[in-house]
Amino acid sequence: MTSVITRFPPSPTGALHVGSARTALFSYLFARSKGGKFLLRIEDTDRERSRQEYTDQILEAMRWLGLEWDGDVVYQSKNEAAHRAASERLLKQGSAYRCFCTEEMLEAKRVAMRTQGRPYRYDGTCRNVDPAESERRAAAGEKFVVRVRKPEGGMTYRDLLHGEIKLRGEDLDDIILMKSDGRPLYHLAVVCDDIAAGVTHVIRGDDHLDNTPKQMVVYQALGAPLPEYIHIPLILGSDKKRLSKREGAENVLDYRAAGFQPDAVLNFLALLGWSHPESREILTKAELIGAFSVDRVGTAAAVFDQTKLRFLNGKHIHDRPPADRARMLADFLKTRGETPPDLKDLAAMIEVNGQRGDTLAEIADYIRFLWERPKAYDEAAVAKFLAGKAELIEKIRCEFEALADFEGESIEIFFRDFAERQGVKFKDVGQAIRVMLTGKSVSPPIFQSAAVLGRVETLLRIDAAQSLMKR
Ligand code: GLU
Repeated sequence: MTSVITRFPPSPTGALHVGSARTALFSYLFARSKGGKFLLRIEDTDRERSRQEYTDQILEAMRWLGLEWDGDVVYQSKNEAAHRAASERLLKQGSAYRCFCTEEMLEAKRVAMRTQGRPYRYDGTCRNVDPAESERRAAAGEKFVVRVRKPEGGMTYRDLLHGEIKLRGEDLDDIILMKSDGRPLYHLAVVCDDIAAGVTHVIRGDDHLDNTPKQMVVYQALGAPLPEYIHIPLILGSDKKRLSKREGAENVLDYRAAGFQPDAVLNFLALLGWSHPESREILTKAELIGAFSVDRVGTAAAVFDQTKLRFLNGKHIHDRPPADRARMLADFLKTRGETPPDLKDLAAMIEVNGQRGDTLAEIADYIRFLWERPKAYDEAAVAKFLAGKAELIEKIRCEFEALADFEGESIEIFFRDFAERQGVKFKDVGQAIRVMLTGKSVSPPIFQSAAVLGRVETLLRIDAAQSLMKR
């Protein structure tokens, strides 16, 4: 049995978006789950629209996601000589022919077929031009394209999702392999590269369904066996329309910048169209590889659910031990140009934070006050919990200064008692402390936070809040 070889061939005309990343993942999972190979090819033949920066971004996104590929990245543009040679071979053996029809003639035929309500297919005018005449006209400088000769009957291919697909002769076309400027066209390039790489399974979005009959004709002419196909359904937005840039990131790396974890993104993308046999939802990359199979890929379009992505991301972060989370958060902060506290302190801060926040960015926002003094104070919170309470605040300050045991739980017990003695609500005492220490009315547990800050820093922040009140 030949082992499985899949490929992901993005065109570098944009960054890696959510839909392509999902296609890449399915290709990757299929190969890895079968112990096969997963190849990466950059389809950069469109010189006008391809950009190096997009290639760089795609490679970076693939690395970040952990979709490691086998062997070197293949650049399609570097294979142009092989594509040209294949076309020449087909010409020589009569599986392809020169077509001298002018663009005007073809356009007229297109219009005629359209008015008859028929899909456009080349009518074969040049199919039977005598080879010697064809040579002569080419030598005389007449412009031509090279077309592949489609088989007489129909063709059948196997799609592992959709079953056997039969195409009739009229579904096939003598497609163009080489343009009149002598440059190979896309379908020839794809098929040549897939054959050269030994690709056994072509996994791609079902927006490529129309390309399959075109490429099959090329396979047949080249005398190569067809790969198996898996055309996966599109991803739709929550409005059930084509996924918009607003909903699914146009660049997968935007998720990194927003504090998503690559494993969570993979987990989320896998569930867009595939389901675990025991309906498990939280899965690591290794678990996805272990459980993936095509028979659990659905044929209906998957709907992108931002809330679920956030939920999964939160799970993938919070389920990790504090030391791991500290490392993740420190790395994230560094990519943003922030200087994180050392890992041990950060782990303690993360423990205080508990499960708050679904992304690293949100978690950082919850606990940044632990290493950064408040730059501003929420005005409404100041008005509600601090204004007119100078005396109470001074008492709180004295108590903090005098506390024997500066540890979260005992601070809390102490202030419960304090509130009772002062005849004020415990909640109001807590909120006053919170606003002074964090600048906000919402934060992780404030007494534990005070313990992490330590006595000196706690007192300094109370001083700062007091001077703010006096202004
Ligand atoms: N370059 C094509 C794309 O980016 C890939 C087509 C294929 O998988 O055959 O959509």
